Amino acid sequence: MSTIDNLPPLREVIARHDLRAKKQLGQNFLLDLNLTAKIARNAGDMSGCDVLEIGPGPGGLTRGLLAEGARHVLAIEKDARALPALAEIAEAYPGRLTVIHGDALQVDPLAHLTPPIRIAANLPYNVGTELLIRWLTPKAWPPFWESLTLMFQKEVAERITAKPGSKAYGRLALLSQWRADARIVMSLPPEAFVPAPKIHSAVVHLTALPEPRYPADPTVLSQVTAAAFNQRRKMLRASLRGLHPDIETLLQDAGIAPTARAEEIDLEHFCALARHLQQARSGG
Ligand code: SAM
Repeated sequence: MSTIDNLPPLREVIARHDLRAKKQLGQNFLLDLNLTAKIARNAGDMSGCDVLEIGPGPGGLTRGLLAEGARHVLAIEKDARALPALAEIAEAYPGRLTVIHGDALQVDPLAHLTPPIRIAANLPYNVGTELLIRWLTPKAWPPFWESLTLMFQKEVAERITAKPGSKAYGRLALLSQWRADARIVMSLPPEAFVPAPKIHSAVVHLTALPEPRYPADPTVLSQVTAAAFNQRRKMLRASLRGLHPDIETLLQDAGIAPTARAEEIDLEHFCALARHLQQARSGG
C-alpha cells in the first residue's frame, strides 16, 4: 500500500486508535489510499472548492480529497472514536480540514461552507440514500452543491442511473435525472473494504444542472411518480386514478397512452403529465 501523504498507513492508524469497525454504524473502511485518491479524482477539480465529506471514519477518503487538492474539507462523523485519527490529518494539512462530530442527518453544514461546494462520501447505504434524496429535493434549484460523488450498494447505483424499460427504473432514477446528470464512475468488489460487505458497491457522480431538464412543479411531479410506481405493474389510467377524475384525458394530453405502465414512461413525459395535472387542478 503506497502513501499519498506523509501520514502513516491506515491499518496502523486503525490499530493505534482501536478503530475496529462497528456494524451498527455501517462501517466498511477503504484502506487503500490509491483507491481513495481515485474516488476523489472522480469528484472533479476540487482546487477552488469546499468539499463536504460525510462519514470520514479513519479518513481514507478524506486523505484522498486533500491530496487531490480540495481547497477545504468539512467532514461530519458520528463516531467519536475516529476524531483523534482525523485530528492527525488536520494537522498534516493546516487550515484545510474541519471536522464536526455529529449525525449528518441532524447537522446543517451550510454555515461552515463557502461555495463552490462539492460533496463526497462513502456512507452507510441507508444514510446515503436518505441524504441523496434530501440533496435532490430542495425547494429552490440550483442547490447549494455542484456535484455529489457517493458510494452506494451497486443495486442502488443502478436504480439512480436507470433508464426507462429496465427493472431498476423508478422514482430514484427520475428524481436523480430530473435536475442532475447521474452516472456510475467506478465499481468496487467487496474486498475493497475492511471488513468486506456481502455486496458489490459503486460510486455515482451526480452533477447539478443549472435548471431542471424539463419544467414541472416538484410536488406535483413527486405525487405523479409516487402514484405511478407504487403500483408499477398497473396501467397508468388505474394507478393514477386517484390524482384527477379525468386522468385519462390528461395522460393523452401529455402524450402518454393510458394503458401504458410506469416503467415505460420517460422523464420528459412524466414532467408533461405533471404540468397538465397542475393546470387541470388550477382549473386551466
Ligand atoms: N469514509 C470512510 C472510508 O471510506 O473508509 C468510512 C466509511 S464507513 C462505510 C461509513 C462512515 O460513516 C463510518 O465512519 C461511520 O461512523 C459514519 N457514519 C455512519 N452514520 C453516520 C451519520 N449518520 N452521520 C455521520 N457519519 C456517519
